[in-house]
Amino acid sequence: MHRFITLFVLTLLLIVTTSGQQTTTNIERRAAELHRQALVIDTHMDTLQRVLMQGADLGVRSTNGQSDLPRLKAGGVDAQFFAIWPDPMYAPHHAARRTLQLIDAMYGVLNKYPDRIELARNAADLERIVASGKLAALMGIEGGHAIQNDLALLRMFHRLGVTYMTLTHSNTNDWADSSTDKARWGGLNDFGRQVVREMNRLGMLVDVSHVSEDTVMDVLEVSTKPVIASHSSCLALCNHPRNLSDKALKAIAKNGGVIGINFFSGFVDQKYLDAMNAMQNDILATINEKKQIAPEDLDRVAAERLKLLDDPGIPRPPFARLLDHIDHAVKIAGIDHVGIGSDLDMIPTPEGMNDVSDMPKITKGLLERGYKEADIRKILGGNFLRVLRQATGR
Ligand SMILES: [Zn+2]
Repeated sequence: MHRFITLFVLTLLLIVTTSGQQTTTNIERRAAELHRQALVIDTHMDTLQRVLMQGADLGVRSTNGQSDLPRLKAGGVDAQFFAIWPDPMYAPHHAARRTLQLIDAMYGVLNKYPDRIELARNAADLERIVASGKLAALMGIEGGHAIQNDLALLRMFHRLGVTYMTLTHSNTNDWADSSTDKARWGGLNDFGRQVVREMNRLGMLVDVSHVSEDTVMDVLEVSTKPVIASHSSCLALCNHPRNLSDKALKAIAKNGGVIGINFFSGFVDQKYLDAMNAMQNDILATINEKKQIAPEDLDRVAAERLKLLDDPGIPRPPFARLLDHIDHAVKIAGIDHVGIGSDLDMIPTPEGMNDVSDMPKITKGLLERGYKEADIRKILGGNFLRVLRQATGR
């Protein structure tokens, strides 16, 4: 009898183990298939910094950085927003030059690989380019100081193909408050409201990542179109002023907008953030203390900042942390208002998210957490496409 029981238990164990394995491979297969079929849009990536400052060739798979065309393809990314980020130290007088240099770097990639990547200016472009099998590239200016307080520059950047503008970076500018700087306007001032109206008129997406909560609320009052937070995570899970409070998440959802969850370790994991805040060095000081830098040193300091962020030497948070932020945003803002805004390239990221080729792990993680396939499609790109169409008008 005893022997039969042992045999029974062993058989049971065997069944449990193999069915467990089957579930795993099943989910992997489903995830790979779903990720391949779904429209995947990442609303923020800093790769053009490497192109401009390090001469990176995006056509070749590299071990440097976290993205290039082969790795974007491996990651199943269909449309990628490339950030046009004039480091705030270029403000006020050199910001437009830096912005144009980065747009030129984007055009360099587009011209070099016309059969692999093409510029999209609206939702219709995006869908057409993706259907042709190419990567749809979109540009987003990060930091309203880029326009040097002149709506003519905003219009010309739009004409060059810029689809969104993040109203501030880490600096409060002459018309909008940042979440990581002194509040000068209590949100937007009159010119800031004009900028939002002009962006609405042009069909440019207004991006509220980086701005203060007062600015978010002012933007939502003025904007006649849904807005985006191109790369922002959740304040409730990690107490960085760059992250969005539940109040902001709800307000963006009510406006019909979308929040692209940011992968940066210091925004998704409190322990990581605390360790970063404890770090001290000269280059960090130039960021945190907003020191003035001589014009001749601007490009050198920019290159050193890029290198520093690549690996600050702090243990990485678990991958689950990233999914936790998606969960929280979905819980607070709703399934129709969450997307992906990786902020990748030369940033510290959770375990497993080594570069953009790891993007399918998000799909797998969401399936494992019980998300429905239709809902995962919304997060991967469906939600953002809706907002892009509403903002650009086609
Ligand atoms: Zn940013």
